[in-house]
Amino acid sequence: MNKVAIITGASRGIGAATARKLSADGWKVALVYNNSEAQVSLLASQLGNGSMAYRCDVKDVQKVNETVAAILADFGRIDLLVNNAGIAQQKLFTDITDGDWDDMILTNLSGAFYFSRAVLGDMIKRKSGKIINIASMWGETGGSCEVHYSAAKAGMIGMTKALAKEVALSGITVNAVSPGVIRTDMLSSFSESELEALRHEIPLDRLGTPDDVASAVAFLASEGADYITGQVLSVNGGLVI
Ligand code: NDP
Repeated sequence: MNKVAIITGASRGIGAATARKLSADGWKVALVYNNSEAQVSLLASQLGNGSMAYRCDVKDVQKVNETVAAILADFGRIDLLVNNAGIAQQKLFTDITDGDWDDMILTNLSGAFYFSRAVLGDMIKRKSGKIINIASMWGETGGSCEVHYSAAKAGMIGMTKALAKEVALSGITVNAVSPGVIRTDMLSSFSESELEALRHEIPLDRLGTPDDVASAVAFLASEGADYITGQVLSVNGGLVI
């Protein structure tokens, strides 16, 4: 297979697991990261098969456009975009500052908009491509003390459904994967006892792993999912049904 995937936030957690899974499935992967240079360099060397790392802050629209142009120059095509880069923050709604709000929306929603717009030119020209957005169960249900995060992820789900309709005739699918509680650095603000309490609420009785999410992404990226678009695939152990 000669297909090329871009994964944002590929240096750690769900993005890194997705890069490993897609690479094992034969994809060439452009690994987009922001700060974690050592981790992403190690990952790129482990993956081999032409995978390369690109530093890009997804909040910076000019850098996003330059990065997509560089990936196109290096690989010649883009078949899949996984909008995974994200941040989380727990705060009372009334404590959220303008800066917190802007950072959350820019990183978790605008970044996906910038990357999707930048790759669509090539995909529409070739009448082929897939976009997969990593949303969150909080985008489906709303999470107390995570209103800005929930709003960004709900926006991502709306963008998924609307864009899926708009680009379907161009042969492009757009879907979202909506993780529940997944053990990554993003949960570092929770204590082990808080995580244990969360586990008790999950019908499948365990926290999710980055590989659980990566498997869902790999399915939606595969030819087996060619007739699926505009959907939200929840990976949450039954926590939200
Ligand atoms: P991690 O905190 O482990 O990793 C976050 C990734 O996003 C890193 O690779 C980081 O890059 C990248 N990133 C953050 N900000 C930027 C930015 N401005 N520009 C470019 N890259 C950036 O998080 P997870 O793996 O847990 O989360 C991945 C996605 O899954 C996120 O969108 C998150 O909201 C979503 N999710 C996670 C859940 C969980 O329980 N873990 C649950 C539901 C959804 P670097 O380190 O290089 O700066």
